[in-house]
Amino acid sequence: MVTRKGALGLGQFPEVPWHKRERENILRAVGLKVEHGEQIEYAETRGVYKTVGDQEHLDIIEAYFEPLSMGKIAKKLDRSAATVHAQIHSHDESIVKVGYCVECKRLKGKHEAEKTEARKIESA
Ligand SMILES: [Zn+2]
Repeated sequence: MVTRKGALGLGQFPEVPWHKRERENILRAVGLKVEHGEQIEYAETRGVYKTVGDQEHLDIIEAYFEPLSMGKIAKKLDRSAATVHAQIHSHDESIVKVGYCVECKRLKGKHEAEKTEARKIESA
């Protein structure tokens, strides 16, 4: 390799000893343990349909508590009103069943244990 300041040298880089080899279990190699249960779910694209991930669920719930109407939230997030409604419904249902919303809890949402019926009345 030649630069304006002169030649820097030419050579080959030997493979570094910690380089991951094919099929090697990288998690075991570095002593990492994967914990399940608190894993955040991300939105996935399934064909034309994009699933709602934890972050979007939280956005919907927080907007609803603001309070915004389902219609406004749908518009803001470019989602159908039915999708927004389904998230609000599953939020409340989860709180009834286990005392908190699983999705909000994973992201430490402030309404994780609050049903949406407790929200302020929407101002026109
Ligand atoms: Zn929730």
